[in-house]
Amino acid sequence: MNYTTLSDVVSCLSDYDPDAVPVAQAQHIIREYIAPINAVEKVAVRAALGRVLAADVISPINVPAHDNSAMDGYALRGSELAGGQTALRIVGTALAGQAYRGEVGNGECVRIMTGAVMPAGCDTVVPQEFTQQASDTSVTIPADVVKTGDNRRLKGEDLRAGHPALGKGKILRPADIGLLASLGIAEVPVQRRLRVAFFSTGDELRSIGEPLDEGCVYDSNRYTIYGMLTRLGCELIDMGVVKDDPASLEAAFRSACENADAVITSGGVSVGEADYTRQMMARLGDVAFWRIGMRPGRPMAFGRISSGARSAYLFGLPGNPVAVMVTFYFFARDALMHMMGANAEPLPLMRVKSQSAIRKKPGRTEYQRGILSRDAEGNQQVRITGSQGSGILRSMSEANCMVVLHHEQGSVSAGDPVDVLLFEGLV
Ligand code: AMP
Ligand code: MG
Repeated sequence: MNYTTLSDVVSCLSDYDPDAVPVAQAQHIIREYIAPINAVEKVAVRAALGRVLAADVISPINVPAHDNSAMDGYALRGSELAGGQTALRIVGTALAGQAYRGEVGNGECVRIMTGAVMPAGCDTVVPQEFTQQASDTSVTIPADVVKTGDNRRLKGEDLRAGHPALGKGKILRPADIGLLASLGIAEVPVQRRLRVAFFSTGDELRSIGEPLDEGCVYDSNRYTIYGMLTRLGCELIDMGVVKDDPASLEAAFRSACENADAVITSGGVSVGEADYTRQMMARLGDVAFWRIGMRPGRPMAFGRISSGARSAYLFGLPGNPVAVMVTFYFFARDALMHMMGANAEPLPLMRVKSQSAIRKKPGRTEYQRGILSRDAEGNQQVRITGSQGSGILRSMSEANCMVVLHHEQGSVSAGDPVDVLLFEGLV
């Protein structure tokens, strides 16, 4: 269900307190409030890699189109194999792409290569390496090396004509574009790319190329956000660093609404912020300001802001560089995928042994940066990267996983199992 206002969503929750929102509740509210964009375009198969399929793909053909051989060897009738060792006469050859069209009679077989169409009447392939005394004209098959039906691929066993081959909402991976090619499909409908505008706020921020005045820091969040959005396949609108004055902020938010589906900002959402970011977010939209029960990343704004008839979802992420990434991955990522119409499975967590004790208070979710490795016996284990401060981006850069310490969980002893989320996947 999609609600029109945030207060509609939270009115269904008995225990909502914006100053103490558990991670799961924030994820729930975001999920209920966000709606998919539903705009489709057709793209060539290769260009569909990483895109979200916008309609089911029904297989127009059987793959494979015929029964065929899974091995190089000899095609025969399984019934020939009934009585121990069998000698058969070779009556022809079947190559991939060049079928044997003759008859195969009693006591006969056909030399066959992998992928070649099974000759009429044959249902079994004896692999080359199991045969004896093979010549151009005959071959001997020892007893019990194959059963009827062995080494034969059945017509349609990969994909059946008329059956769904790929489902709407799937993010297309290398196997999927290969599968589309195997069906002879040249173009597929995909959801249009999500347009995401992003900017940094804070008067202390300097951009690359500018001198670093006293008390200032280079704006790194726009680079991590750029990286994370690019990996998600979004179309980016980088709006730079926006000055902390009402006119600049208003102009930036309005321009974001007019050009993007979602806007992501960093900084300026802490409760104690003196700047105008929060005020402007509240003035332009339906926005909640949360203190989330998590570490890092406590303050966050979420909602929808409008300018005239146009509106965009807003993710006002915290300013600290690690907090930005954690809130992006655990809140914005799922929401953006939902907007893209993608069927996002929950991220898989792996349970591994913690190499050391970790202090943790129940009542908040902690995302510690970890390094997964193997112990001497080959079992997975995890250790925490040095300092876990929310401003220490090096902890993310050095990590290969996030250790997720759940809301109710307390301290961890050395050797206890913990959940980790891997940064790298195969595809
Ligand atoms: P804020 O949430 O605005 O109070 O920011 C919290 C901390 O994050 C402050 O130390 C900021 O200087 C820092 N910070 C905010 N935005 C950025 C940014 N874009 N790049 C790097 N650090 C930032
Ligand atoms: Mg600030």
